[in-house]
Formats: sequence, C-alpha cells, structure tokens
Amino acid sequence: MAYIFKENRYESMKYRRCGKSGLKLPEISLGLWHNFGEPDDYNTGRETILTAFDAGVCHFDLANNYGPPPGSAEITFGRIFKENLQPYRDEIIVSTKAGYDMWPGPYGEWGSRKYLVASLDASLKRMGLDYVDIFYHHRPDPETPIEETMTALADIVRRGKALYAGISNYNAEQSARAISVLRDLGVPCLIHQPSYSMLNRWIEGGLLDVLEKEGTGCICFSPLAQGLLTGKYLDGKIPAGSRASKSVFLKPSSITPQLLEKLNALNEAAKARNCTLSTLAILWILRETRCTSVLIGASSSAQLKENLAAVSKPPLCAEELQKIEMILQKP
Ligand code: NDP
Repeated sequence: MAYIFKENRYESMKYRRCGKSGLKLPEISLGLWHNFGEPDDYNTGRETILTAFDAGVCHFDLANNYGPPPGSAEITFGRIFKENLQPYRDEIIVSTKAGYDMWPGPYGEWGSRKYLVASLDASLKRMGLDYVDIFYHHRPDPETPIEETMTALADIVRRGKALYAGISNYNAEQSARAISVLRDLGVPCLIHQPSYSMLNRWIEGGLLDVLEKEGTGCICFSPLAQGLLTGKYLDGKIPAGSRASKSVFLKPSSITPQLLEKLNALNEAAKARNCTLSTLAILWILRETRCTSVLIGASSSAQLKENLAAVSKPPLCAEELQKIEMILQKP
C-alpha cells in the first residue's frame, strides 16, 4: 500500500548547514550499515525508512559493502526507493562509499581510481539511481597517493555521478591533506564521516578543529555506540536479536562491569531530564555545533522514533553537561 507522507514532515526536524557549503542536513540521519541486508526483514526496513522520511530525516547513508552480503543494503534501499520514494528524489540526500573489500583482486578495495569509479558505477546500478548526493572515500589508503584518490572523487563529481565528495575515517592530518588536494582540484570536501559518541571521543583531539577551519561538515557515525548507549544492555544481559548477539562488530565481551556502571549512571542522568539514554546520547552530540548530523542506525521504526525525540528536546544545559562529563571521566 502506498505510504502517505505528512505534508508538514519538515517541521518536526531541524537542519544544520554542512560546513561552509550550501547543503543542509537533518540533525538526525539514518544509516543502513546493519538491518537492511538479505537476512533482515524487508518490511521492517521499509517501515523504518519511510517513518524516517516522514519525520524529516531526508538523508540516508549507505556504502558499497553494507549488507550482508556486501551490496545487499544498496539493493534493499533501491527497492524501497523505487517503490516509495522515487517522486521525492529531489528531497533526499543519498550517500554511498567505497574503500573496503568488495571483489577479488588488486582493484576491489582501498583508494585507486580504478576501484572508486567501478565501485560507484556498481552502487548506482544496485540502487537504481543516476547519481548519489555524496560519494565518500571510506577509509584512508596507506599506499595510493592521496592525489589519485582525490582526483577520482573530483572527476566523479564533475561527471555528475555524485554531487559532493566526502571522506570517512581519515585522521586530522590525513583530512587536512585530502581537503587541501580537493580544494586545489576545484571540488570542495563537503563532509567528513568519523565515529563519535560519549564512549568514543577521538575527534575532539584535532579533527573537529581541522574541519571547522576548512569549512567541512561532520556527520558522526555510531553515536549510540552500536546500541550500548540505549536502554538495551543496562542489566548486563544480551537480548536475543540485538547487535551484540549477532554481529562481529559488537562483542559481548566489551560489555564490562565498569562500562555497565557508566551506562547506568548516564541512564540516571537521562531519567533526571525525562528522556531515554539514547536520546541523551544524541543530545550530547548535538551540543557540538561543529557536528552537522548524528548518523544513527535503527533495527525498527520504534527505535527510530525513540531516538528522534532528541530533536524536540531542549539542548543540554551547562550543569547537565558537567554531570555527564564527570560520569564519562570516571575510569
Ligand atoms: P548506532 O550507534 O546508532 O547503533 C544503532 C543500533 O543500536 C541499532 O541498529 C540497534 O541495534 C540499536 N539501537 C538504536 N536505537 C535503539 C533504541 N532506541 N533502543 C534500543 N536499541 C537501539 O549506529 P550504527 O553503529 O548502526 O551506525 C550508524 C550508521 O553510521 C551506519 O548505518 C552507517 O551508515 C554509518 N557507519 C559508518 C561507518 C564508516 O566507516 N563510515 C562505520 C559504521 C557506521 P540492535 O537493535 O540490532 O541491537
């Protein structure tokens, strides 16, 4: 059945300018790393995406390797897009990436021109799109000259296969270099996609300063630490079907008694301001004005709705931030 989107859907979301570009992104964006592969339920994924779009979440983030198997999240997204979102293409920002292992041989990963051009063509085919809005180099390549990788991104933008170029997982120094090379090529680096959460603050050590200076936006991935910063694991048990129960990326062994103590203290801070832990974790990232968007994942529309509550809550005040800081600083 056709989904009827609310006419006032953009009123429930706030939008932030991406660096010094002309593009604004929703404060919360949705990523398809997990939950949209072949083993996942199509209707659940569809409902999550459509609920997101109906709440003003107009940015969907993919990569060539999302699945499993690699490529299948783009196929799922392509089907949802074709069946439900095609008329809204001009309202939607779709991103994809290349950098990780996709096919055998020397041209199936990293940062060569050969790999990036072929990978984006394959991504577009899987999604049934003529272009993506943002194309990222997914991880720095220690061997390929940065000039080659950035020239490939710039050429992809010039050919109209992507509207903007981005980088992901580059450290501060690598980012400064990539941004400078892209600028010399006449194609600004729109955005960086690093990991960032209350439990992972590496970008505070220089990257955010580089991005601010260069006028590059920042979209933070795994803001809920893959589910740790939600109510899910607070009692130390691993719920069936949760990421920690089935994904190699979140190991039950990482849920230590010290971490649980911290999560429960954060949960108390959330309760004190009448929100959930996931909402608090998102609000905490939104305190940083240099972060353009918080890139969450969700395995159901119910999770998504809980997380979207962050947009309508008042920002964290100095006192609350101090309380959170004390919890986070505890060894
Ligand atoms: P999050 O930290 O937001 O974790 C999302 C997961 O947490 C969900 O799939 C769900 O897992 C759980 N969760 C979310 N909300 C709730 C809730 N309210 N209650 C209970 N559990 C909840 O982000 P991801 O790690 O999924 O990353 C988000 C996106 O960032 C990715 O989809 C991708 O687009 C991008 N990314 C980019 C990377 C890069 O290298 N550039 C690397 C990683 C991610 P479950 O229900 O299964 O337990």
